[in-house]
Amino acid sequence: MITAAVCPQCKGTGKSNLDLCSVCGGKGTVSKRTKVVLKIKKGVESGYEIRIPKAGRAPESQIGGEPGDLHVILNVLPHPVFERRGADLYMKAPISFAQAALGGEIMVKTIDSKQVKVKIPAETQTDARLRLRGLGMPMRGDKGRGDLYVAVVVETPRKLTVQQKELLRQALVGA
Ligand SMILES: [Zn+2]
Repeated sequence: MITAAVCPQCKGTGKSNLDLCSVCGGKGTVSKRTKVVLKIKKGVESGYEIRIPKAGRAPESQIGGEPGDLHVILNVLPHPVFERRGADLYMKAPISFAQAALGGEIMVKTIDSKQVKVKIPAETQTDARLRLRGLGMPMRGDKGRGDLYVAVVVETPRKLTVQQKELLRQALVGA
């Protein structure tokens, strides 16, 4: 970012001998390109503001005065897998037709890349929401974590063999 720094030529006075300083044009400050490392606390949301003292612009009314503060407002980008609502996270997970009908287990990758086992109850329908407590976003100030909600999407089987089709017909259609 660009921030204000005391003019190295006139040391902030704006003058060289009795004339205006040629480096800063008499302002006493020059612009300086600088890198600032921001520490991001866990659990922050869009709109969260970080203030960096004296990293802002030079005052206009005063020669060589102290620069103001730099306010950085964070904007949290959307995640390709997780949708965030407050401290809770939402994701979708595909399950097979057999898992949906008979129940089973799937593995789900959490926001911190942990693999967790999720139990699928028998007769689960698409959009059924399974709640995983404490696997959502951390809350600011170490107040614990939100939950992760997994919405299941039942996948209809593809490329069935003649025999599988016949078995399904017998079992489910009753013909
Ligand atoms: Zn100067």
